[in-house]
Amino acid sequence: MAPVNAGRGIDGHNAAMGEKIIAIHDLRRSAALVPAGASALAAGQDRLDRLGRRLGDLRISVTDRCNFRCTYCMPKEVYDTRHAFLPHASLLSFEEIARLARLFADAGVGKVRLTGGEPLLRKNLEHLVELLADLRTPAGEPLDLALTTNGSLLARKAAALRAAGLRRVTVSLDAIDDGVFRAMNDVGFAVEDVLQGIDAALAAGLGPVKVNMVVKKGANDHQVVPLAQALQRRFGTAVVLRFIEFMDVGMTNGWRLDDVLPSQDVLARLRTLGELEPLQASAEGETAERWRFTGSGQEIGLISSVTRAFCDSCTRGRLSTDGQLFLCLFGTQGHDLRALLRGGADDAAIAAAIDHVWARRGDRYSALRTAETAAARERAAQAGARRVEMHYIGG
Ligand code: SAM
Repeated sequence: MAPVNAGRGIDGHNAAMGEKIIAIHDLRRSAALVPAGASALAAGQDRLDRLGRRLGDLRISVTDRCNFRCTYCMPKEVYDTRHAFLPHASLLSFEEIARLARLFADAGVGKVRLTGGEPLLRKNLEHLVELLADLRTPAGEPLDLALTTNGSLLARKAAALRAAGLRRVTVSLDAIDDGVFRAMNDVGFAVEDVLQGIDAALAAGLGPVKVNMVVKKGANDHQVVPLAQALQRRFGTAVVLRFIEFMDVGMTNGWRLDDVLPSQDVLARLRTLGELEPLQASAEGETAERWRFTGSGQEIGLISSVTRAFCDSCTRGRLSTDGQLFLCLFGTQGHDLRALLRGGADDAAIAAAIDHVWARRGDRYSALRTAETAAARERAAQAGARRVEMHYIGG
C-alpha cells in the first residue's frame, strides 16, 4: 500500500501531525488494491477484517483542540502557542460527519462516540448530535450515541445534549485531590467544576455516567482509592469509575513502561476498601473488565490496554477530525475519506471504500507491544512512521 500525496505536504506527510495519509480515491484507481467496480456489501451484512473482527463502533474526533494540557496527553511543552492545530476548513462539517456516520451505520456500526480533543469546544455540537440521533441501523434501531469529555463545559451543556439525543457520557477525572488534578490537567482546572458537570449529566438523564481515570505511576496512582471513595459518597451507583492504564499513544507524552500501574495492582488497592466481585461484559468488544463492590454496589472498570490487550475483540474504527479513517488507536496511517466526500464520490463509492479498508485491517498493536518493541518503535518513528496523537484521532 504505497502512501500517496493527499495534498497535505510532500510524500503525503502532514507536517503538523507527522502522520501519513492514504488517499482512497487514488488507491481506488489501483486494480490491485480495489478491484474495478468494487461495491459495498449489503447493509446489515457483517464487515469482517482480516482477523475476523466485525466493524461495530465508530469514534469520531470532532476537534483536535483541547482546553486542558494533560501532561500524559497534550503536554504544554509540545502543545503551546506555536503548535498548529487544524484550520477550520479542513475539519469535517457536521453534514459530512453525519453522512459518513450513516454509511458506517449501514456497514454495521451501532455505537458512535464523539470525542477529540475536547468535543464540547466544537460550536453547536448539539446540532451534530441531532443529526446523528436521526440515523438508524439496518435493523431500524437508533445509534447508541455517546460522548467523552473532560467535563469542563458539561454543566452548561448537558441538558441541551440530552435534548438533542445524546444517550451517554464519559467524563475524564484523574484525581479527587484538587492540587493533583490541577497539576495533571496543567491549566489549573478545579475538581469541583468537573463534579458539577457530572451532577448536571445525571440530572439531564445521561446516566449512569462513566468516569475515566488514567493512572500514571508517581503522578496520581495514590488517588485510586480516594477517588473511588469520593465518587461513591457523592454519586452512589450512578457513576461507574474506570481505571485506564497509561498508554503509549502518540509520540509526545514521554511514555515509559515503568509509569504504568498494572490494573491488577489497581484491583489490589481497591480490595482494601471491600470485597469485589467480577461482572460479565455488557457488550461485545467491551474494553473494560467489570467489577462491583459487593457492599455498596459501586461498579468499577479496569481498562488494561497495556498489560492485557483487547485487540482480538476490537470492533472500533476511528474518524479523525479531518476525515481520515484509522483502524487502530496506535495507527500511523489514515485513509482519506474526506477526499472522497469533497471529491464528489457518491454513497456507493464511499461505502465500498469503507468496506475495502476494513476488510484489509490487521492491526493489533497492543497485543504485539512488548518491551523489545520499544527499540523498533523508535526506529519506525525515525523512519517517519509516527503514531498519531490521541487528540487528533479521538480517545
Ligand atoms: N477531552 C476528552 C476527555 O478528556 O475525555 C476526550 C478526549 S481524551 C483524548 C479521551 C480519553 O483518553 C480521556 O479519558 C483521557 O484521559 C484518555 N487518554 C489520553 N491520553 C491517554 C494515555 N496516554 N493513556 C491512557 N489514556 C489516555
